[in-house]
Amino acid sequence: MLTPQIADKGVTKHILRAFDLHASRRLGQNFLISPGVVRAVVEAAEIESGDRVLEIGPGIGTLTQGLLEAGAYVTAVELDKKLPAVLTETLRGYEHLNVVQGDILKTDIPALMGNQPFKVAANLPYYITTPILLSLLEQKLPVTHIVTMVQKEVAERMTAKPGGKNYGALSVAVQYHTEPEIVLDVPPSCFFPAPEVDSAVIACTVRKTPAVALRDENLFFRVVKASFGQRRKTLSNALKPLGFSKERMEEALHGANVDAARRGETLSLAEFAALANNLAN
Ligand code: SAM
Repeated sequence: MLTPQIADKGVTKHILRAFDLHASRRLGQNFLISPGVVRAVVEAAEIESGDRVLEIGPGIGTLTQGLLEAGAYVTAVELDKKLPAVLTETLRGYEHLNVVQGDILKTDIPALMGNQPFKVAANLPYYITTPILLSLLEQKLPVTHIVTMVQKEVAERMTAKPGGKNYGALSVAVQYHTEPEIVLDVPPSCFFPAPEVDSAVIACTVRKTPAVALRDENLFFRVVKASFGQRRKTLSNALKPLGFSKERMEEALHGANVDAARRGETLSLAEFAALANNLAN
């Protein structure tokens, strides 16, 4: 069984002390101290020997160690300038590691990872996890799996089905590109320092082709955004800001077999696609 050693409260505290580090709130530094969670991430990413992995925010190397132990070739992008030197020590002896100091939001990922398939693993500050995930998907990189820690309620929004309060534009975007699955609920006690919120590991298996066929992807997401923009309104009202004539919109809704009195939160991906495709005609 995989036995990552850094994922331990005593070891983590020791490393922080030895390098005179203080977990930075600004950089969202809550380090994993649970070997079980590290194992769950590695398993969910279906890591096999030789897999190429982009790890975002390796911190002191907790998850990185799990990935390396499983045989992955890891490229780890870390913003904190102090941490590459720490990783050289904590992960000494592992050959297949390339640490890059920088901001993932400003990193040219195609240049860094090339055009061969790779996987993404991350435990990042929660305020940047969703933008990064969406940006990875929109760039249409050769990514096969994205396994990341997120705030529990964000994981619930990503996996939500039509009809519930959690279903929204994020659910549609994530499910259009991937098959998301909540792998594990992670309580605050699995991190040091403990965050204030509950977390979850979400595994997104990137689809080879998107969930629905679209004539105009940009228009599809505009329709989705508008539909959820004013959740309490009926579709015919919520979609007005898109600027189509009343007749055109009625025709498109009718053609998609969608009642204009419905609310956006009840539409499936297939219904959004049918509506957007009719509008793109
Ligand atoms: N992965 C480690 C773990 O699980 O223990 C560290 C997790 S900690 C929640 C988030 C890490 O992401 C920190 O090391 C932080 O410095 C790094 N980070 C924050 N913003 C980043 C960014 N924009 N690009 C790259 N790394 C970032």
